[in-house]
Amino acid sequence: KLGNETIKAELGRASWRLLHTMMARFPEKPSPDEREALKSYIYLFSRLYPCGECASHFRLLLKKYPPQTSSRDAASQWGCVVHNAVNERLGKEIFDCGTIADKYHCGCAEEDEKKRK
Ligand code: FAD
Repeated sequence: KLGNETIKAELGRASWRLLHTMMARFPEKPSPDEREALKSYIYLFSRLYPCGECASHFRLLLKKYPPQTSSRDAASQWGCVVHNAVNERLGKEIFDCGTIADKYHCGCAEEDEKKRK
């Protein structure tokens, strides 16, 4: 457990940003292997997240909300719902998941488009 609330909050913001950005870049039509990779990543993340108290709460959340990996949209919405569950527990504002599609960018879209061509 990190002793300092500011550091814990920074770690949280950085982690949510990474998670939501990964979901926003997840394939629209993932292969079984890509789906398995995302699912494994999320479960490993829940084991290794460095704030132990946060990680154990997150593991309970995963039982209630198993990771959704069937599409980019399903994964993004799932990420939004679990983040909202954490927001709720911490007494934070609930985020409107309808707006998530436009929010998370990696700064790499054009580059990846070119590689695919
Ligand atoms: P954050 O919750 O970090 O959100 C960052 C930004 O993301 C927001 O400003 C908003 O623009 C956007 N956002 C907000 N909600 C959503 C959403 N639903 N979907 C998409 N985008 C959204 N802290 C604790 O003190 N105790 C815990 O048990 C705990 N558990 C955590 C578990 C996990 C898995 C993670 C990643 C973090 C956890 N944290 C925990 C940290 C906590 O969730 C926050 O990250 C931290 O308190 C900083 O909060 P914040 O208000 O800056 O916004």
